[in-house]
Amino acid sequence: MSSLIDSDTICALATPPGRGGVGIIRISGPLCRTMAEKILRRLPRPRYAVYSDFNDLSGAVVDSGIALFFPGPDSFTGEDVLELQAHGGYFVLERLLNLVLELGGRLARPGEFSERAFLNNKMDLTQAEAIADLIDSCSAQAARSALRTLQGEFSNLIHNLVEEITALRVYIEASIDFSEEDIDFLSAGKTSQRLSTIIAQLDGVIAQAKQGAILKEGMSVVIAGKPNVGKSSLLNALAGRESAIVTDIAGTTRDILHEQIGIDGMPLHITDTAGLRNSTDPVEQEGIRRALKAISEADRILLIIDAASEQPAPDQLAEYLHSTGFAQLEEPLKKGRLSLIFNKIDLLAPNSLPTSWQDKPADAPLLAVSAKHQYGLQALREHLKQCMGYQADAEGGFIARSRHLEALRKARLELARGLEQLDRHQAGELVAEDLRHAHQYLGEITGEFSTDELLGRIFSSFCVGK
Ligand code: GDP
Repeated sequence: MSSLIDSDTICALATPPGRGGVGIIRISGPLCRTMAEKILRRLPRPRYAVYSDFNDLSGAVVDSGIALFFPGPDSFTGEDVLELQAHGGYFVLERLLNLVLELGGRLARPGEFSERAFLNNKMDLTQAEAIADLIDSCSAQAARSALRTLQGEFSNLIHNLVEEITALRVYIEASIDFSEEDIDFLSAGKTSQRLSTIIAQLDGVIAQAKQGAILKEGMSVVIAGKPNVGKSSLLNALAGRESAIVTDIAGTTRDILHEQIGIDGMPLHITDTAGLRNSTDPVEQEGIRRALKAISEADRILLIIDAASEQPAPDQLAEYLHSTGFAQLEEPLKKGRLSLIFNKIDLLAPNSLPTSWQDKPADAPLLAVSAKHQYGLQALREHLKQCMGYQADAEGGFIARSRHLEALRKARLELARGLEQLDRHQAGELVAEDLRHAHQYLGEITGEFSTDELLGRIFSSFCVGK
């Protein structure tokens, strides 16, 4: 994908394919006017809905419906845009789309309308991404936050930061030019104070973007444990419906299962692994290989233990993992990514659980649940939210992606380095350079500085017609 807009006129079905009351074909580019003349026999008045026959090249009526014409640059893409709202039947829309192709249009690539909007400065990159996020949002919170980003809340925060960084850069560069005249701007403390204020502002944006990225990307959780401890049951209980097969024959869950549920707006990507037991069955071995990969990538691993049959001691978790064939979980345990879930506590006598854990600090948090009787699940959900630092009720949030968070963190590193240069060495040139880098990272977020490769990656993940 190239960042230069080609002069093709692009078209796509903007509504989901299949049967529907209305199906919309969207066209953008220089041929819109001639296409309107051919199909509608006239150019509709700009931005007014007109009811019209849609004629093919032989003059036969394909359908009749509403046509809308948005002349560029005041359109979504910034180019001439024509929208044909026809009846939402597969064959009608296919004929119309073919007609547009016959008239010189070409099928749009995924996200190409939004890409043109971005390249024509109708919106910045975060806003273009927010369109996709709004459409894909899995919860009311995510949709609200995507809308805020689309309306420019996130971009404004970035622009404010960029403005302040630029102003400070100008100031520092001036001080370098005047240094011969002995005006020591840099050592006066004021510059360092200004930079500290910018860093504090950036920290605020990072905190908000973190919540936004959780809303967008969610948390990945792996459920691991011996066969028959209740992994599938727990997954079903969390998901609230029957998705995994629950049986009491060991080793039923042969492949890994994925489930996505939401906890207060936070998408939870759950992977239920095959029981990690040694097996010679190639299907089961493949399941185990995939399980190990999921474990290495997950935000959190829940090791499910049948508390009715065993309760490892809190200070012997590593030994327990080794002796039970879960040596692969030692790494997550060391890194604090493992939580222990004692399941089947309904089978234990009341208050028998698990005294050894009460006063010993453990390397992994312990939760006691009964998947079968839906006990302890709310505490488990709270625990997962807490692990991610997710605040469901955070006000004024906006949606963000991990690429934004990464760029914000890189910008912060640059600013922190700049502050150190300033405080330690009063090295004006170096500070100015750090500020310039920080500006560049922030500019990657909004698309002020972006590569073709990045744009290609972003827009190709959109759906066609957007
Ligand atoms: P998996 O092999 O780890 O996925 O285990 P399953 O979810 O298939 O459960 C194995 C057996 O344990 C089934 O008979 C479940 O009904 C039972 N089970 C699961 N959770 C509980 C629980 O909390 N309490 C009791 N009593 N039985 C459970």
